[in-house]
Amino acid sequence: MATPILLTTLNATYQHCAFGLRYLYANMAELQAETAIEEFTRDQNPQDIAEKLLAHHPKLIGFGVYIWNTRETRNVIACLKRIKPELVIVLGGPEVSYEAENQSICQLADFIFAGESDFLFPQFCREYLREGKLPSGKMISGPLPEIKQIALPYAFYSDEDLRHRVLYVEASRGCPYQCEFCLSSLDKAVRSFDLDRFLGAMEVLITRGARQFKFVDRTFNLSVATSTRILSFFLERIHHGLFLHFEMVPDRLPAELRSLIRQFPPGSLQFEIGIQTWTPDVAKLVSRRLDYPKIRENFAFLNETGVHLHADLIVGLPGETLQTFAAGFDQVTALGPHEVQVGILKRLKGTPIIRHDAAWGMVYADEPPFQILQTRTLDFVTLQSLNRFSKFWDLYANRGNFPHFMRLLRELSLQHHPPSLFAEFYAFSEFLSRRHLQRHSLALLSLVESAWVYLTQERKLDPVRAREILIQDYTGSVKRDIPRFLRAETSELPLVSTKRLANNATPRRQNRHLSQGEAQGSAS
Ligand code: SF4
Repeated sequence: MATPILLTTLNATYQHCAFGLRYLYANMAELQAETAIEEFTRDQNPQDIAEKLLAHHPKLIGFGVYIWNTRETRNVIACLKRIKPELVIVLGGPEVSYEAENQSICQLADFIFAGESDFLFPQFCREYLREGKLPSGKMISGPLPEIKQIALPYAFYSDEDLRHRVLYVEASRGCPYQCEFCLSSLDKAVRSFDLDRFLGAMEVLITRGARQFKFVDRTFNLSVATSTRILSFFLERIHHGLFLHFEMVPDRLPAELRSLIRQFPPGSLQFEIGIQTWTPDVAKLVSRRLDYPKIRENFAFLNETGVHLHADLIVGLPGETLQTFAAGFDQVTALGPHEVQVGILKRLKGTPIIRHDAAWGMVYADEPPFQILQTRTLDFVTLQSLNRFSKFWDLYANRGNFPHFMRLLRELSLQHHPPSLFAEFYAFSEFLSRRHLQRHSLALLSLVESAWVYLTQERKLDPVRAREILIQDYTGSVKRDIPRFLRAETSELPLVSTKRLANNATPRRQNRHLSQGEAQGSAS
């Protein structure tokens, strides 16, 4: 049977499901019966995707376009248009909402929706399918939809989504701040969904078996009244074994929130805390508001709770140098987050950061994800090194597989003048870059071997101590044979230890950090 309207996107991985498509589907009203969602991952073959889409005999296909899938989506659309030129192709999503005119994907498409299209898209489909009418212009936009009238998408998470995928939820849209590198800086205000309706939908999801919730609200702790209600709601149901992820601004944690946060069991909350830069002049340049003493105070409080803490830093902001970034990295890791994500600046379409392009010599890649290649204060070679630093930091520190090794690097970092974890890990990262030239993915065993060679040959550490540390990491939570290069003098060392799960719903990576008590700042 034919399905006239298809909603589709290429997700980053299977685990991420398309929240935006479910919103559109929820708001299709009487057209729902004629609409289907088809999700793919971006590593799938474009022709296979086109074949699957065409099997529905659609009249119109709407694609969700994001920075991570633009190139792959373009290839699918090119294939579709060659086979069936009359098929109406519609694009939406942040990547095509701004600066659409120069993008090749937009040139291939028939219509492009800019901004939130919860009501505009169904209206467009209605006029096309019922009356055969299509707009005269290619770009379609309208006023922001009245948020309280938007149909919620949560009923369209399938049982399989609930069991195997990250469930995105949102209680509000928009952000009042103006950080120039961020798309949300273009929002004029924060708009909130009706809280009773939202929590009612969460109740249904929990009853259906949902256990992990990822809030996409840009700043969860903006309205204390709202965040207090949401936390209280989940705290009352925490016995189900829930895991909740929130993004928050780091300098706002009033007493009401603190008292609730304290009551959550370890491993049930994760806060993603955007710091982005610890250099006041850079923060000022990009209009980012940060109260550093308050951030320190809030981290000190959070370190006393069982919240899994994930801090974000950005490399390549205008005015940032290697020295200022290094100093900021040391400050942030000393705050004690379990993970520090070192992100490379990306130029998101429509963001005001382009006003610094000339003055700060900002050069971005011209292919998605449009990463910064060079600035007046960070040359290409240094940015390449920092790119690798970010990748290796993720493998060794963030993933939680090397708690003892990371503790040792912290100890070794005290030998630098001044003491610097950045300097210590940067040297390790440069060593890894030479050793793993051209390697995209590295198996755990290969990481262990590199750490072994680094400690014993580069850092001239006592092999007995290096061996003990690496065996503890390698066999820390999973039963594994000790590799040949670590085998000597190991008879007295533990082969296996089994770590306790902090919470049934806590993802494995977060659980590793919490059960090892490896708060990164604890040794500094
Ligand atoms: S970085 Fe965070 S605080 Fe700044 S505009 Fe974006 S969402 Fe808002």
